[in-house]
Amino acid sequence: MADYQIAVFPGDGIGVEVMDAAMAILEKVESRFGFSLSKEAWDGGATYYRETGKDLAPGAFEAARAADAILFGAMGLPDVRLPDGTEVAPHLDMRREFRLFAGVRPARKYPNTPSLLSDPRAETTDLIVLRESTEGLFASRGRGTIEGGRVARDTMEITRETSEDLFDFAFNLARRRADKGRGQRRVTCVDKSNVFVSMAFFRSIFDERAALNADVEATRAYVDAAALDLIRKPWTADILVMENMFGDILSDLCGGLVGGMGMAPCAEIGKKHALFQPAHGTAPDIAGKGISNPTAMFVSTAMMLDWLGEMAGDQRLVEAGEAVDQAVWQAYADGAILPIELGGKSDNGDVTRAVLAVLG
Ligand code: ATP
Repeated sequence: MADYQIAVFPGDGIGVEVMDAAMAILEKVESRFGFSLSKEAWDGGATYYRETGKDLAPGAFEAARAADAILFGAMGLPDVRLPDGTEVAPHLDMRREFRLFAGVRPARKYPNTPSLLSDPRAETTDLIVLRESTEGLFASRGRGTIEGGRVARDTMEITRETSEDLFDFAFNLARRRADKGRGQRRVTCVDKSNVFVSMAFFRSIFDERAALNADVEATRAYVDAAALDLIRKPWTADILVMENMFGDILSDLCGGLVGGMGMAPCAEIGKKHALFQPAHGTAPDIAGKGISNPTAMFVSTAMMLDWLGEMAGDQRLVEAGEAVDQAVWQAYADGAILPIELGGKSDNGDVTRAVLAVLG
C-alpha cells in the first residue's frame, strides 16, 4: 500500500510527454526520500472524447476526489469540441467542484535563459500571480446573455467567503516563501477598485485580512499599473493576488516574461483538494516530436510534493519538493540545458536527464 494516492491525468498532446517526464522525476525522489506514491493514470481529454463521447473515463472524477493530490498534463485539442462549441476541459469542472480557488502561478527567471528585458535586475525575477480561480468574471461562464442581438452582458461575482480564503492563502504563501529564503514577504492586491464596486469590495476584504496578517507587508495596485510594472520592473514583484480574469491575463504575460509557457507552472489549491499542472495547453503544433519543455511540469510536480507534505505533515515530501525545485534551477545554472522552446537544443529527454542527474 503506497503512502499517498496521486490521480494522474496525462491528457492530450504534449500533456502526455511532460507527464512521462514527471513520472521519472517522481520515481527518483520516491526512492531517494523513502516514500511511495500510487500514481494511477486515468484516461481523459479530447482524444478520449473523440473515441468515446466522454471527457473522462468512468470513475476518473471520483478517483480525483478520493486522491491525496491530482496531477494533470494538459487536455483539449482545438478541433475536438463539445456540443456547445467549447473545448474539452474537465479540469475546469474539477476546479469548480473541488473549489480550487487559489491558482498559484509562479514566474521565475532561470539562469542561462534568454531575457526579454535588458536590465540585469530582470535575472532576479521570482514572483507569483495568485489568481482566484472559481469566481470573478469567469463566474459568468455559461451564464452570459445577449439581449435582442444588441447588448451582451457578463457579470463579475466576488464573494466574501472566497476572497477571505484567497487572501489568507496569499499571506500564508508569503510567509512560507520567506521561510525558504524566497520572495519579499509581501502581498499586493491587484484590482480596479477605483472604478468597479466589485473590485472595491475585493480590496476592502483584502484590507481586513491584511490587518489580521500584519507580519506580512500588504500593498495595493491597480491592474493597469501592475501590468506596466510587470514589464518595467518585474523583479520588484512578490505575490500579486487578483480576480480570475485579471489573473488569467497577467499570468500568461508573466509566462512570456520568463521565456514561454513551458516555463510556467501552476497549482490550483482549495481547502481539501489540489490539482497541479503546467499552465500551458496541449500545444498540438509540437506534440509527438519529443521537443516539449517539461520544466513547468517539473516545477508543478515540486509544488504538489510540497503541498502534500504540508497537508500531511510529512517532511519527506516537503524536502522532495524542495529538491526537485532546486534540481531544475541547478540544471539551468550549470548551463546543462536550454530548451528548444527558448531557442536552445535541449529536447524533452535532455531536460529530463539533466534534472535527474542533479537529483543524483
Ligand atoms: P490552450 O489553448 O489550452 O492555452 P494551446 O496549445 O493553444 O493551449 P499553449 O499550450 O498555451 O496553447 O501554448 C502556446 C504555444 O506555446 C504552443 O503552441 C507551443 O508552441 C508553445 N508551448 C506551450 N507549452 C510548451 C512547452 N511545454 N514546451 C514547448 N513549447 C510550448
